[in-house]
Amino acid sequence: MRTAIIGGGIAGLAAAYELEKARAAGAAVKYTLFEARERLGGSIASEILNGAVLERGPDSFITEKPAAAALCRELGLGDALTPSNDANRKTYIVVRNRLVPLPDGLMFLIPTKLVPTALTRLFSPMTKLRMALELLHPPRPSGHDESVATLVERHFGAEAVDRLADPLLSGIYGGDASQLSARTVLPKLVEMESEYGSLTRGMLAAHRKMRKKMAASHAAKPQGNARPAPRGIFTTLRGGMQQLVDALEARLEPAWVRRSTPVSALEKTEGGWKIAAGGVTELFDAVIMASPAWAAGELLGAVDPVLGEELGGIPYSSSITVNLVYDEAKLGRLPDGFGFLVPASAGRAMLACTFVHRKFLGRTPPGKAVVRAFLGGAKNESLLNESDDALIATVRRELSEILGSQVIPREAEPEHAQVSRWRRAMAQYAVGHQERMQRITARVAALGGLRLAGNAYDGIGIPDCIRLGRQAAQELVESGKTASQQVS
Ligand SMILES: Cc1cc2nc3c(=O)[nH]c(=O)nc-3n(C[C@H](O)[C@H](O)[C@H](O)COP(=O)(O)OP(=O)(O)OC[C@H]3O[C@@H](n4cnc5c(N)ncnc54)[C@H](O)[C@@H]3O)c2cc1C
Repeated sequence: MRTAIIGGGIAGLAAAYELEKARAAGAAVKYTLFEARERLGGSIASEILNGAVLERGPDSFITEKPAAAALCRELGLGDALTPSNDANRKTYIVVRNRLVPLPDGLMFLIPTKLVPTALTRLFSPMTKLRMALELLHPPRPSGHDESVATLVERHFGAEAVDRLADPLLSGIYGGDASQLSARTVLPKLVEMESEYGSLTRGMLAAHRKMRKKMAASHAAKPQGNARPAPRGIFTTLRGGMQQLVDALEARLEPAWVRRSTPVSALEKTEGGWKIAAGGVTELFDAVIMASPAWAAGELLGAVDPVLGEELGGIPYSSSITVNLVYDEAKLGRLPDGFGFLVPASAGRAMLACTFVHRKFLGRTPPGKAVVRAFLGGAKNESLLNESDDALIATVRRELSEILGSQVIPREAEPEHAQVSRWRRAMAQYAVGHQERMQRITARVAALGGLRLAGNAYDGIGIPDCIRLGRQAAQELVESGKTASQQVS
C-alpha cells in the first residue's frame, strides 16, 4: 500500500513513523511525506543559543496525556525527558497592572479550596459570594453546545471569565473563551454540570475518586526500592522539543521525505488518489491529511466541496512568540513561579509570559534568564504585521510596566531577542465543533482511503496530534491487511 502523508508537522511525522514501523515489521507499506516548508516539525521548532534552549513554538507537553512521552521513550529520548519544576509552579494573572497569584486549588478553572478562594485578591467580594452560592446550583441537563465564557459566567460570573477563563485559554492556546466550545474544550465540566449542577461539587467529587484510585493502585504495586521518576505537570526535552522532530526524522526513509514540496492538487480516481506536488503527479492508495484543516479543505474541496467547506470552516488563530535572553545581573529579581497571564481587559499586546529558566531547570546556562512572551491570539491578529523590532520593543515595555522597572529596567538590553510568527497555526474548537466533526467524519469515511490527523480535530496539544497521527497510520495498515487477506 502506498500512502501519501501531507504535512510534516508532529501529526504527519508520527503517522510516517508508524508506517515505517509497520514496514520494518514486514507489512507491504510505502509512504511519501510531503512538507511545504524547508524544515519538518510544523509548529515545533527550537534551537540552542549559547547554551540556552529557545523554543519558537511549543515548549512542552502535558504529562497527563501519555502519547508524547511514550513516543519519546520509544525513540530513545527517555533520558532527555525533563519535568517542569513544579516546586516553583506559580502562575500570576495581571490585575490592574499588578501580579496576583492564581489561588491554590484551582482545577480546570474551578476553585476547589475554600480558604485560598476566600483570601485571593483575584476576585471581588461579589464574585467570591457567587462562587460560594455556586455550590447550590441544581443539575442541568446538557442541551446545545455553548461557549466556555457562557458556561463559566453562568456559574461564577463575568469577572471569572475575564480574570480566569479567558486568560487561561488565550494564554495557552491563543483562544477566545467567548468563541470556544464548552463541550469540546471542557467536556468534564459539561458532564459535571448535568450530574451535580455545581461545578465545584462535581470537581471535588472527581478529585476524591482520583485520590482513591491512586491510593488503590499505590497499594497494589509491590514496594521496591526504586523511586518513581519525578513527574511535573508539563514535560519537555532537555535539548528542546526539536529533539523529538529530529529523532522522528532519523527513523524515516530519507528518500521518502520531501521537504519544500507543497501538495498543490488532489484527485480521487478509480485507481486511487492522484497527488500533484513539485510539478509531478503520483498515484497513492491512501492519504493522511496532516496539514492544517484550512489547507486540507483547499485540497479536498476539489474532491468533495462540502468536506472542503467543513474543513475550511474550522477557525484558526495566529500567534507570536518573543524570546528574550538576559544576563540575570542586569535584572532585578523576577517573581517566583512560571510566569503570568494577561486578561484581554488589561488592553495589552502580551497574552502571557513564561520565565523559561524557572519552568524547566537545566535548559538555561547559570546566570541567564530567558523570558518568553506570547502575543496575538484570536483577538489581536494584526500584531503579526508589526516588525520584529516593534514587537521586541512592545514586549520590553510591557514587561517593565507589569513587573516594575526595577525588575526589568527599560535600559536592560537583552543579549538576544528572537521573534517567531505562527500564522493560522492553532485550531480553535468553536461552538458546534463536535457536530462539525461528525459531519466531517462521515464524509471522510465515504471517500475511502483517507484519514485526517492534526490539531484541528480531537485535541490541540502535541500528545493528541501524535495520537491521531499514529492512529491514522495504524488504521490504514490494518485496512491494507484486510484487503490483501480478501484478495488471497
Ligand atoms: C506558539 C505555539 C505554542 C504552542 N505551545 C504548545 C505547548 O506548549 N504544548 C502543546 O502541547 N502544544 C502547543 N502548541 C500546539 C501544538 O504545537 C500544535 O497543535 C501542534 O504542533 C500541531 O501539529 P500538526 O502536525 O497538527 O500541525 P502543524 O505543526 O501546523 O504542521 C502542519 C504542516 O503541514 C504543512 N503543510 C501545510 N500545507 C501543506 C501542503 N499543501 N503540502 C504539504 N505540507 C503542507 C505545514 O507546512 C506544516 O509543517 C503550540 C502551538 C504554537 C503555534
